[in-house]
Amino acid sequence: MWDRNYIRFDINPWKEYQLPRPSSRLDLICVAVQPMYLWELDAAGALLFRWQNQGVLGEKISDCVWHAGPAAERVVVGGFTSLHVDKRQTLSFFSNQQGGFRVRCPTNGGNLVPDFVSALQRWRGSGNGEETRVLQCPLCGTSHRLESLDFSPPARFALGAVVLRDAGGAELTEWARRDLMTLLGELAVVACRVS
Ligand SMILES: [Zn+2]
Repeated sequence: MWDRNYIRFDINPWKEYQLPRPSSRLDLICVAVQPMYLWELDAAGALLFRWQNQGVLGEKISDCVWHAGPAAERVVVGGFTSLHVDKRQTLSFFSNQQGGFRVRCPTNGGNLVPDFVSALQRWRGSGNGEETRVLQCPLCGTSHRLESLDFSPPARFALGAVVLRDAGGAELTEWARRDLMTLLGELAVVACRVS
């Protein structure tokens, strides 16, 4: 499902979110900028309990999933449908799905899609290890950390995410950004279109 210039969604770990839908959905995947930034489920729970008291979240559906509340627009203009805490045991790759994304050398801007696909498979095949999270670049001759490649739209490596599912827009409010930073530190958002 990818060609030489553009990765589509089959290399994505978000299989559980690939539900059949009549039209595309936008999920906002909030992650730490630092790939190995550790955060705890307890801390996420405390933050989301606060959001629930403020009406941002509604009923808790399961350990890791909440319905949006009446004040969901405080987080993202246009609101969202539900919030998922997706904590991972190992580093994972989060990216767009429908429509895919480009991968370029950060030094010379050349296309690295085929090399990245191979590197990602190698990395996953080795158990998501630190040593294999690299790409020997055929374009500039140096070795890049996978997370330092130029992804467009942005993609990230992280130890999990707070996911705003079915969001009304791609931008978090400043209020939400500040609150999420208390959990995730410096924050990045991966906008993910899901078919
Ligand atoms: Zn390069």
